[in-house]
Amino acid sequence: MRRATIPLPTWRRVRRGGWRRRIVVMAVCSVTVACLQTTDASAFSITSPTPGAHIAPSTVPTFTVVWEPGGSYQLGYFSILNQYGVSVGGCSALPWVLPPGGATTQCSLASVLPPGVYTWTFLYAFPFCVDDPVSGRICTSVPFRAALGPYLLTVDSPPPPPPPPPAPKPKTIAAAPNLPSSARFTGERSIKDTRLMELVYATFKNVVRKPGVLAVACWTDDDFEAVSGGSVNGDTVKIAFWAPRQPRWLHISGHACADFQQLLDTRVPTGRRASSVVTALHEGLHAYGIRNEAQANCYAVQLVPLAGRNLGMTQAKAAYLGSLALNYTRSTAAAGYWDAAQCRAGGKWDIHLKDVKTPPTGTAPKPQPTPKPEPAA
Ligand SMILES: [Zn+2]
Repeated sequence: MRRATIPLPTWRRVRRGGWRRRIVVMAVCSVTVACLQTTDASAFSITSPTPGAHIAPSTVPTFTVVWEPGGSYQLGYFSILNQYGVSVGGCSALPWVLPPGGATTQCSLASVLPPGVYTWTFLYAFPFCVDDPVSGRICTSVPFRAALGPYLLTVDSPPPPPPPPPAPKPKTIAAAPNLPSSARFTGERSIKDTRLMELVYATFKNVVRKPGVLAVACWTDDDFEAVSGGSVNGDTVKIAFWAPRQPRWLHISGHACADFQQLLDTRVPTGRRASSVVTALHEGLHAYGIRNEAQANCYAVQLVPLAGRNLGMTQAKAAYLGSLALNYTRSTAAAGYWDAAQCRAGGKWDIHLKDVKTPPTGTAPKPQPTPKPEPAA
Protein backbone atom coordinates (compact mmCIF):
# COMPACT_ATOMS: atom_id res chain seq x y z
CA MET A 1 0.00 0.00 0.00
CA ARG A 2 1.29 3.39 -0.88
CA ARG A 3 0.94 6.19 1.55
CA ALA A 4 0.13 9.51 -0.12
CA THR A 5 1.23 12.79 1.30
CA ILE A 6 -0.69 15.92 0.55
CA PRO A 7 1.71 18.83 0.35
CA LEU A 8 0.32 21.70 2.28
CA PRO A 9 1.28 25.32 2.13
CA THR A 10 3.75 26.36 4.74
CA TRP A 11 3.37 29.66 6.40
CA ARG A 12 5.82 31.19 3.97
CA ARG A 13 3.78 30.17 0.99
CA VAL A 14 0.65 31.60 2.51
CA ARG A 15 2.31 34.84 3.25
CA ARG A 16 3.62 35.28 -0.25
CA GLY A 17 0.44 34.48 -2.05
CA GLY A 18 -2.36 35.24 0.35
CA TRP A 19 -3.81 38.70 -0.02
CA ARG A 20 -6.59 37.76 2.36
CA ARG A 21 -4.08 36.97 4.97
CA ARG A 22 -2.36 40.25 4.48
CA ILE A 23 -5.63 42.08 5.17
CA VAL A 24 -6.12 40.12 8.37
CA VAL A 25 -2.57 40.75 9.47
CA MET A 26 -3.00 44.45 8.77
CA ALA A 27 -6.13 44.55 10.90
CA VAL A 28 -4.49 42.69 13.76
CA CYS A 29 -1.41 44.84 13.56
CA SER A 30 -3.05 48.26 13.30
CA VAL A 31 -1.95 49.36 16.74
CA THR A 32 1.32 47.57 16.95
CA VAL A 33 4.77 48.25 15.87
CA ALA A 34 5.71 44.84 14.71
CA CYS A 35 3.57 42.00 13.54
CA LEU A 36 4.50 38.49 12.68
CA GLN A 37 3.24 35.04 12.50
CA THR A 38 4.67 32.64 14.96
CA THR A 39 7.79 31.31 13.46
CA ASP A 40 7.20 27.75 14.66
CA ALA A 41 4.05 27.28 12.62
CA SER A 42 5.07 24.89 9.89
CA ALA A 43 3.42 22.11 7.96
CA PHE A 44 1.52 18.93 8.21
CA SER A 45 0.50 16.09 5.94
CA ILE A 46 -2.75 14.23 5.62
CA THR A 47 -1.83 10.65 4.97
CA SER A 48 -5.32 9.16 4.81
CA PRO A 49 -7.66 9.13 3.12
CA THR A 50 -6.02 9.94 -0.15
CA PRO A 51 -7.95 12.26 -2.46
CA GLY A 52 -10.55 10.27 -4.38
CA ALA A 53 -10.21 7.28 -2.10
CA HIS A 54 -12.80 4.53 -1.94
CA ILE A 55 -13.69 2.84 1.31
CA ALA A 56 -15.81 -0.17 2.09
CA PRO A 57 -19.36 0.43 3.36
CA SER A 58 -18.42 -1.16 6.65
CA THR A 59 -15.49 1.19 7.22
CA VAL A 60 -15.87 4.26 9.43
CA PRO A 61 -14.14 7.17 7.66
CA THR A 62 -10.92 7.88 9.51
CA PHE A 63 -8.51 10.73 8.90
CA THR A 64 -4.80 10.72 9.71
CA VAL A 65 -2.64 13.81 10.05
CA VAL A 66 1.10 13.87 10.47
CA TRP A 67 2.08 17.07 12.24
CA GLU A 68 5.59 18.13 11.55
CA PRO A 69 7.80 19.26 14.41
CA GLY A 70 7.48 22.77 15.72
CA GLY A 71 3.91 23.38 14.67
CA SER A 72 1.59 25.62 16.59
CA TYR A 73 -1.93 24.97 15.42
CA GLN A 74 -5.23 25.94 16.86
CA LEU A 75 -7.59 24.08 14.60
CA GLY A 76 -7.45 20.82 12.70
CA TYR A 77 -10.93 19.76 11.77
CA PHE A 78 -12.24 17.46 9.06
CA SER A 79 -15.62 18.34 7.67
CA ILE A 80 -17.46 15.95 5.36
CA LEU A 81 -20.42 16.76 3.10
CA ASN A 82 -22.70 14.53 1.12
CA GLN A 83 -23.40 14.97 -2.58
CA TYR A 84 -25.99 17.64 -1.80
CA GLY A 85 -23.52 19.70 0.19
CA VAL A 86 -25.09 18.79 3.50
CA SER A 87 -22.78 18.13 6.41
CA VAL A 88 -22.81 14.52 7.50
CA GLY A 89 -20.26 14.86 10.26
CA GLY A 90 -16.74 15.77 11.10
CA CYS A 91 -13.99 15.21 13.61
CA SER A 92 -11.08 17.02 15.14
CA ALA A 93 -7.59 15.73 14.61
CA LEU A 94 -5.66 18.37 16.51
CA PRO A 95 -3.65 17.03 19.43
CA TRP A 96 -4.23 18.77 22.71
CA VAL A 97 -0.51 19.17 23.10
CA LEU A 98 1.65 19.08 20.04
CA PRO A 99 4.99 17.62 21.06
CA PRO A 100 8.11 19.36 19.84
CA GLY A 101 8.97 16.39 17.73
CA GLY A 102 5.64 16.34 15.91
CA ALA A 103 2.87 13.82 16.10
CA THR A 104 0.49 11.68 14.13
CA THR A 105 -3.15 11.97 15.05
CA GLN A 106 -6.30 10.34 13.83
CA CYS A 107 -9.96 11.01 14.13
CA SER A 108 -12.97 9.12 12.90
CA LEU A 109 -16.57 9.95 12.16
CA ALA A 110 -19.10 8.73 14.67
CA SER A 111 -20.32 5.96 12.41
CA VAL A 112 -20.15 4.50 8.94
CA LEU A 113 -21.66 6.46 6.05
CA PRO A 114 -24.20 5.17 3.58
CA PRO A 115 -22.76 4.27 0.19
CA GLY A 116 -22.28 7.36 -1.94
CA VAL A 117 -19.91 10.10 -2.98
CA TYR A 118 -18.77 12.63 -0.37
CA THR A 119 -16.36 15.52 -0.15
CA TRP A 120 -14.15 16.27 2.77
CA THR A 121 -12.31 19.41 3.71
CA PHE A 122 -9.63 19.95 6.29
CA LEU A 123 -9.88 23.19 8.19
CA TYR A 124 -6.73 24.25 9.91
CA ALA A 125 -5.47 27.35 11.60
CA PHE A 126 -2.55 28.70 13.53
CA PRO A 127 -2.34 31.80 15.74
CA PHE A 128 -0.98 35.21 14.94
CA CYS A 129 1.29 36.90 17.35
CA VAL A 130 2.72 40.34 17.59
CA ASP A 131 5.87 41.41 19.31
CA ASP A 132 4.89 44.50 21.23
CA PRO A 133 7.82 46.55 22.46
CA VAL A 134 5.96 47.18 25.66
CA SER A 135 3.93 44.08 26.33
CA GLY A 136 6.09 41.57 24.60
CA ARG A 137 4.62 38.90 22.33
CA ILE A 138 0.85 38.87 22.13
CA CYS A 139 -0.96 36.11 20.23
CA THR A 140 -4.40 36.76 18.88
CA SER A 141 -7.24 34.47 19.82
CA VAL A 142 -8.73 34.70 16.36
CA PRO A 143 -6.83 32.27 14.24
CA PHE A 144 -6.33 32.56 10.62
CA ARG A 145 -8.25 29.77 8.96
CA ALA A 146 -7.39 27.90 5.86
CA ALA A 147 -9.03 24.99 4.17
CA LEU A 148 -7.59 22.05 2.34
CA GLY A 149 -9.85 20.36 -0.13
CA PRO A 150 -12.53 19.52 -0.92
CA TYR A 151 -11.52 16.02 -1.90
CA LEU A 152 -13.71 13.16 -3.01
CA LEU A 153 -14.35 10.19 -0.79
CA THR A 154 -16.50 7.38 -2.10
CA VAL A 155 -18.19 4.86 0.15
CA ASP A 156 -18.63 1.84 -2.05
CA SER A 157 -21.84 -0.10 -2.29
CA PRO A 158 -21.79 -3.48 -0.60
CA PRO A 159 -21.04 -6.34 -2.96
CA PRO A 160 -24.11 -8.06 -4.31
CA PRO A 161 -25.08 -11.17 -2.42
CA PRO A 162 -23.61 -14.31 -3.88
CA PRO A 163 -25.89 -16.03 -6.34
CA PRO A 164 -27.82 -18.93 -4.89
CA PRO A 165 -26.13 -22.24 -5.43
CA PRO A 166 -27.26 -23.91 -8.62
CA ALA A 167 -30.01 -26.42 -8.15
CA PRO A 168 -28.63 -29.93 -8.16
CA LYS A 169 -28.99 -31.56 -11.51
CA PRO A 170 -31.62 -34.25 -11.51
CA LYS A 171 -30.14 -37.69 -11.51
CA THR A 172 -30.09 -39.73 -14.64
CA ILE A 173 -29.33 -43.36 -15.22
CA ALA A 174 -25.82 -42.21 -16.18
CA ALA A 175 -25.22 -41.91 -12.43
CA ALA A 176 -25.88 -45.61 -11.88
CA PRO A 177 -22.25 -46.79 -12.29
CA ASN A 178 -21.24 -44.37 -9.55
CA LEU A 179 -23.73 -45.66 -7.00
CA PRO A 180 -22.21 -47.13 -3.84
CA SER A 181 -22.47 -50.89 -3.62
CA SER A 182 -24.45 -52.22 -0.71
CA ALA A 183 -26.16 -55.45 0.21
CA ARG A 184 -28.82 -53.57 2.11
CA PHE A 185 -31.32 -51.00 0.87
CA THR A 186 -32.59 -48.61 3.53
CA GLY A 187 -34.32 -46.09 1.28
CA GLU A 188 -32.06 -43.30 2.47
CA ARG A 189 -29.72 -43.38 -0.49
CA SER A 190 -29.60 -44.98 -3.89
CA ILE A 191 -27.35 -47.99 -4.13
CA LYS A 192 -26.08 -50.69 -6.38
CA ASP A 193 -27.87 -53.54 -4.62
CA THR A 194 -25.42 -56.42 -4.57
CA ARG A 195 -27.86 -58.79 -2.85
CA LEU A 196 -30.47 -58.31 -5.54
CA MET A 197 -27.77 -58.64 -8.19
CA GLU A 198 -26.70 -61.98 -6.76
CA LEU A 199 -30.28 -63.20 -6.69
CA VAL A 200 -30.94 -62.22 -10.30
CA TYR A 201 -27.69 -63.77 -11.46
CA ALA A 202 -28.20 -67.00 -9.51
CA THR A 203 -31.76 -67.41 -10.76
CA PHE A 204 -30.92 -66.86 -14.40
CA LYS A 205 -27.95 -69.18 -13.97
CA ASN A 206 -30.49 -71.92 -13.25
CA VAL A 207 -32.03 -71.54 -16.68
CA VAL A 208 -29.34 -69.94 -18.86
CA ARG A 209 -25.93 -71.47 -19.41
CA LYS A 210 -23.91 -68.23 -19.19
CA PRO A 211 -26.04 -65.34 -18.08
CA GLY A 212 -24.32 -62.01 -18.22
CA VAL A 213 -24.11 -60.24 -14.92
CA LEU A 214 -26.73 -57.58 -14.57
CA ALA A 215 -26.22 -54.67 -12.22
CA VAL A 216 -29.20 -53.61 -10.13
CA ALA A 217 -29.72 -50.01 -9.13
CA CYS A 218 -32.06 -49.46 -6.20
CA TRP A 219 -33.04 -45.82 -6.37
CA THR A 220 -34.61 -43.80 -3.62
CA ASP A 221 -38.10 -42.60 -4.39
CA ASP A 222 -36.87 -39.12 -5.34
CA ASP A 223 -34.03 -40.44 -7.47
CA PHE A 224 -36.30 -42.94 -9.19
CA GLU A 225 -38.72 -40.15 -10.02
CA ALA A 226 -35.82 -38.34 -11.69
CA VAL A 227 -34.16 -41.25 -13.51
CA SER A 228 -37.44 -42.72 -14.71
CA GLY A 229 -38.78 -39.40 -15.97
CA GLY A 230 -41.78 -39.66 -13.67
CA SER A 231 -42.86 -42.77 -11.87
CA VAL A 232 -46.57 -42.26 -12.49
CA ASN A 233 -48.07 -42.35 -15.95
CA GLY A 234 -51.82 -42.14 -16.03
CA ASP A 235 -53.24 -44.95 -13.94
CA THR A 236 -50.04 -46.97 -13.97
CA VAL A 237 -47.12 -46.64 -11.61
CA LYS A 238 -43.68 -47.37 -12.94
CA ILE A 239 -41.82 -49.49 -10.43
CA ALA A 240 -38.80 -50.47 -12.49
CA PHE A 241 -37.37 -50.18 -15.96
CA TRP A 242 -34.64 -51.33 -18.25
CA ALA A 243 -33.07 -48.91 -20.74
CA PRO A 244 -31.61 -50.22 -24.04
CA ARG A 245 -28.84 -47.61 -23.89
CA GLN A 246 -27.66 -49.08 -20.59
CA PRO A 247 -28.36 -52.74 -21.29
CA ARG A 248 -26.62 -54.27 -18.28
CA TRP A 249 -28.42 -52.21 -15.66
CA LEU A 250 -31.80 -52.85 -14.08
CA HIS A 251 -33.38 -49.80 -12.48
CA ILE A 252 -35.67 -50.59 -9.58
CA SER A 253 -37.76 -48.13 -7.55
CA GLY A 254 -37.23 -47.66 -3.84
CA HIS A 255 -40.75 -49.01 -3.36
CA ALA A 256 -39.88 -52.41 -4.90
CA CYS A 257 -36.39 -52.53 -3.36
CA ALA A 258 -37.85 -51.90 0.09
CA ASP A 259 -40.28 -54.78 -0.41
CA PHE A 260 -37.39 -57.05 -1.38
CA GLN A 261 -35.40 -55.90 1.66
CA GLN A 262 -38.34 -56.78 3.88
CA LEU A 263 -38.48 -60.23 2.34
CA LEU A 264 -34.81 -60.69 3.22
CA ASP A 265 -35.24 -59.29 6.72
CA THR A 266 -38.44 -61.07 7.74
CA ARG A 267 -38.27 -64.21 5.60
CA VAL A 268 -42.06 -63.88 5.45
CA PRO A 269 -43.45 -63.97 1.88
CA THR A 270 -46.27 -61.64 0.93
CA GLY A 271 -47.74 -60.74 -2.42
CA ARG A 272 -45.87 -57.44 -2.58
CA ARG A 273 -42.59 -58.99 -1.49
CA ALA A 274 -43.00 -61.74 -4.07
CA SER A 275 -43.79 -59.07 -6.62
CA SER A 276 -40.49 -57.31 -5.89
CA VAL A 277 -38.70 -60.46 -7.04
CA VAL A 278 -40.88 -60.58 -10.14
CA THR A 279 -39.95 -56.96 -10.81
CA ALA A 280 -36.20 -57.60 -10.78
CA LEU A 281 -36.54 -60.74 -12.91
CA HIS A 282 -38.91 -59.00 -15.32
CA GLU A 283 -36.32 -56.25 -16.00
CA GLY A 284 -33.62 -58.89 -16.27
CA LEU A 285 -35.64 -60.66 -18.94
CA HIS A 286 -35.78 -57.40 -20.89
CA ALA A 287 -32.00 -57.27 -20.65
CA TYR A 288 -31.90 -60.79 -22.11
CA GLY A 289 -34.01 -59.75 -25.04
CA ILE A 290 -37.61 -60.40 -23.99
CA ARG A 291 -39.37 -57.20 -25.04
CA ASN A 292 -42.98 -58.33 -24.74
CA GLU A 293 -44.19 -57.13 -21.34
CA ALA A 294 -46.69 -59.94 -20.77
CA GLN A 295 -44.10 -62.50 -21.81
CA ALA A 296 -41.49 -61.00 -19.43
CA ASN A 297 -43.99 -61.12 -16.60
CA CYS A 298 -44.95 -64.69 -17.42
CA TYR A 299 -41.35 -65.90 -17.40
CA ALA A 300 -40.53 -63.88 -14.28
CA VAL A 301 -43.41 -65.37 -12.32
CA GLN A 302 -42.27 -68.88 -13.27
CA LEU A 303 -38.74 -68.09 -12.07
CA VAL A 304 -39.80 -66.87 -8.63
CA PRO A 305 -39.74 -70.33 -6.97
CA LEU A 306 -36.16 -70.70 -8.17
CA ALA A 307 -35.37 -67.29 -6.73
CA GLY A 308 -36.94 -68.35 -3.44
CA ARG A 309 -34.66 -71.37 -3.32
CA ASN A 310 -31.70 -69.10 -4.07
CA LEU A 311 -32.77 -67.02 -1.10
CA GLY A 312 -32.47 -70.10 1.06
CA MET A 313 -36.16 -70.95 1.31
CA THR A 314 -37.46 -74.47 1.59
CA GLN A 315 -39.02 -76.02 -1.48
CA ALA A 316 -42.48 -75.46 -0.02
CA LYS A 317 -41.86 -71.88 0.99
CA ALA A 318 -40.29 -71.10 -2.37
CA ALA A 319 -43.33 -72.61 -4.10
CA TYR A 320 -45.56 -70.48 -1.90
CA LEU A 321 -43.56 -67.40 -2.86
CA GLY A 322 -44.13 -68.38 -6.49
CA SER A 323 -47.88 -68.69 -6.04
CA LEU A 324 -48.01 -65.31 -4.32
CA ALA A 325 -46.04 -63.83 -7.21
CA LEU A 326 -48.39 -65.34 -9.76
CA ASN A 327 -51.55 -64.13 -8.03
CA TYR A 328 -50.21 -60.66 -7.26
CA THR A 329 -48.81 -60.09 -10.74
CA ARG A 330 -51.87 -61.42 -12.51
CA SER A 331 -54.22 -59.30 -10.42
CA THR A 332 -52.26 -56.04 -10.60
CA ALA A 333 -50.80 -56.17 -14.10
CA ALA A 334 -51.47 -53.13 -16.22
CA ALA A 335 -53.00 -53.51 -19.65
CA GLY A 336 -50.67 -55.47 -21.90
CA TYR A 337 -48.70 -56.91 -19.00
CA TRP A 338 -50.53 -60.21 -18.69
CA ASP A 339 -51.62 -62.74 -21.29
CA ALA A 340 -53.60 -65.56 -19.71
CA ALA A 341 -53.85 -67.43 -22.98
CA GLN A 342 -50.10 -67.74 -23.37
CA CYS A 343 -49.12 -67.77 -19.71
CA ARG A 344 -50.53 -71.05 -18.46
CA ALA A 345 -49.36 -74.58 -17.84
CA GLY A 346 -48.67 -76.06 -21.24
CA GLY A 347 -49.10 -72.67 -22.86
CA LYS A 348 -46.75 -71.04 -25.30
CA TRP A 349 -44.78 -69.29 -22.58
CA ASP A 350 -44.54 -72.22 -20.20
CA ILE A 351 -40.82 -72.72 -19.69
CA HIS A 352 -41.29 -76.18 -18.11
CA LEU A 353 -39.28 -75.50 -15.00
CA LYS A 354 -40.19 -78.92 -13.67
CA ASP A 355 -37.33 -80.07 -15.85
CA VAL A 356 -34.91 -77.59 -14.28
CA LYS A 357 -32.92 -78.86 -11.37
CA THR A 358 -33.77 -76.81 -8.31
CA PRO A 359 -30.52 -75.53 -6.82
CA PRO A 360 -29.67 -76.51 -3.29
CA THR A 361 -29.62 -73.80 -0.71
CA GLY A 362 -26.61 -71.48 -0.64
CA THR A 363 -25.11 -72.41 -3.95
CA ALA A 364 -25.90 -69.18 -5.70
CA PRO A 365 -22.80 -68.42 -7.76
CA LYS A 366 -20.99 -65.18 -7.12
CA PRO A 367 -21.52 -62.70 -9.90
CA GLN A 368 -18.60 -62.30 -12.23
CA PRO A 369 -17.30 -58.93 -13.39
CA THR A 370 -19.76 -57.21 -15.65
CA PRO A 371 -19.04 -58.10 -19.27
CA LYS A 372 -19.15 -55.55 -22.02
CA PRO A 373 -22.74 -54.71 -22.88
CA GLU A 374 -24.13 -56.61 -25.73
CA PRO A 375 -26.78 -55.23 -28.02
CA ALA A 376 -30.16 -56.18 -26.68
CA ALA A 377 -31.91 -58.72 -28.84
ZN1 LIG B 1 -41.20 -54.37 -18.74
